[in-house]
Amino acid sequence: MATDWSEIHDRRLLAAFAQVPREQFVPPSLRQYAGQDEPLPIGEGQTISQPFVVALMTQLLRLQPGQRVLEIGTGSGFQTALLCELTAQPQQPRGAQVYSIERFPGLAQQAATVLEALDYHPHLLVGDGAAGWPTAAPFDAIILTAAPPCLPRPLWQQLGEGGRLIAPIGPVDEDQMLWLVEKRRGQRWLQAHGPVRFVPLLSPLLADPAMCIKVG
Ligand code: SAH
Repeated sequence: MATDWSEIHDRRLLAAFAQVPREQFVPPSLRQYAGQDEPLPIGEGQTISQPFVVALMTQLLRLQPGQRVLEIGTGSGFQTALLCELTAQPQQPRGAQVYSIERFPGLAQQAATVLEALDYHPHLLVGDGAAGWPTAAPFDAIILTAAPPCLPRPLWQQLGEGGRLIAPIGPVDEDQMLWLVEKRRGQRWLQAHGPVRFVPLLSPLLADPAMCIKVG
């Protein structure tokens, strides 16, 4: 895959991209397109995200080896594999610090199979990612690969001090804004990173206004 994006300068991230075979994470019939900088369908009406957007979001997480990261929306598992690479530590299974939640059991199962075959060992869960993973918190980084209408409060609560959260936030079937949310002395520090288009994060939890933090 060509990764000569001018915005992406993190060398560890580019090395991780070179390690993870995207073609393994797309349906066999679409493998010939895996090297293109485009999203692709992965079943259940979901998509594997565009590589450039994956790179941009991952760069903003500023992951270091040994950091603990939560992903909402495992999907194909491609992003999960990158997180495993970037948090890997010597003498530990790759993915020991990576937690990822997916709503569709079929996608989660498929991702688990591919990740296992490539020797990645993240913690995977089927469920509503808006609730986060309380028993594994706090996290140094949280990434949402589906777009909620607001910042899910449980995810904000599970972000550790100094932590970074990256999420597309906005309406369904329209552009959303890519937000970087950092926790600095317990306060929210926000930065907008331009319009993106993601599949919606579907969660009954967010119908409760107390669970939905307005951003922007
Ligand atoms: N990171 C994925 C992107 C998949 S698209 C990849 O690289 O392939 C986003 C995923 O979020 C979809 O698989 C969708 O099913 C999932 N999703 C949507 N709402 C969710 C929720 N509330 N909890 C967990 N996963 C959710």
